[in-house]
Amino acid sequence: MTNGSRVTMTGMRNAALLLAALLSLASPVHAEWVERVVDGIMGTRISVNLWADNATAGNALIDAVMDDMRRIDLAMSTYRKDSEVSKVNERAAREEMVVTPELFDLLTKALEFSRMTEGAFDITYASVGYLYDFRHNVRPTDKQIHDALPGINYRHVILDPRKRTVHFTQAGVRIDLGGIGKGHAVDSAIALLQSRGVAHALVTAGGDSRIIGDRFGQPWIIGIRHPDRKDEVIARIPLEDAAMSTSGDYERYFDEKGVRYHHIIDPKTGDSARKVRSATVIGPNATTTDGLSKTAFVLGAEKAIEIYNRLEDIDAVIVKPDGTVLYTQGLEAPK
Ligand code: ADP
Ligand code: MG
Repeated sequence: MTNGSRVTMTGMRNAALLLAALLSLASPVHAEWVERVVDGIMGTRISVNLWADNATAGNALIDAVMDDMRRIDLAMSTYRKDSEVSKVNERAAREEMVVTPELFDLLTKALEFSRMTEGAFDITYASVGYLYDFRHNVRPTDKQIHDALPGINYRHVILDPRKRTVHFTQAGVRIDLGGIGKGHAVDSAIALLQSRGVAHALVTAGGDSRIIGDRFGQPWIIGIRHPDRKDEVIARIPLEDAAMSTSGDYERYFDEKGVRYHHIIDPKTGDSARKVRSATVIGPNATTTDGLSKTAFVLGAEKAIEIYNRLEDIDAVIVKPDGTVLYTQGLEAPK
């Protein structure tokens, strides 16, 4: 009797499941993954994957994300003369300039990252950095670097939170948010999606990604590429509700007489920072992981790992010039 009733219960449950499955097939609304890849915003590739009630709703959300990324690009690109950041570069040595709360907050974070990384991250790198053009194999002469180098020092950037102003202590200082802007744009996208109820998403801008939730009950797997072999993956990182940024010397560069000139600049020398080939930082948000992923190039793998190990919520994978890979304590090297 006991057995019989158990069989009946199972039978009833199966029938209920079958009914539920049939109803969901018949229903006009069914949740699905919606994705899009767009090239050219912030000079990079943007991709969004999200779980939406239906394709129309998903595409509307992705439209909103792309609009937000274009807005940030218009405000922060130094390639645009009329961007807010270009105006800061034009005026801030002469006057205390009032900026938008969004830019003020990002500048505040940028200075925090400078302090956290002992000056390795420094948005005033651009005081020399603007003299490079990696697309056209252009680099400054030693004299040009020597003359412009005094402009690099994050302490030259004075922020006043009461007046929401930025001021440069001297002429010749330039800032560029290329080392933090994509991370900020990704975080902005994630906040937008969360505010609209999205529970599963992956947003990527160039080397900066952030994830909400999981994927089919499993973590997302994000690969770290080999510095020289584009299609070879050196590590796969499972991620849920986290951000990850990779910086590499293979992104924007040219080689001259066996020396690689690339887009990450050592603030002390004004030359490209060559202590590692790539650095991947994992953390709670993409502004932080982006801000920290340049450190190892300037300070070296060991020193950077030391800094990352001290920070809560931060992990990293660093590829050294000899090909060896270093991991922070929170990650285990693959056996
Ligand atoms: P991506 O631009 O693909 O996100 P990264 O996150 O590695 O690549 O950032 C590289 C960018 O960071 C450079 O193109 C430049 O704009 C900026 N940058 C270069 N050197 C520094 C530095 N020492 N501190 C802060 N930003 C830097
Ligand atoms: Mg980045």
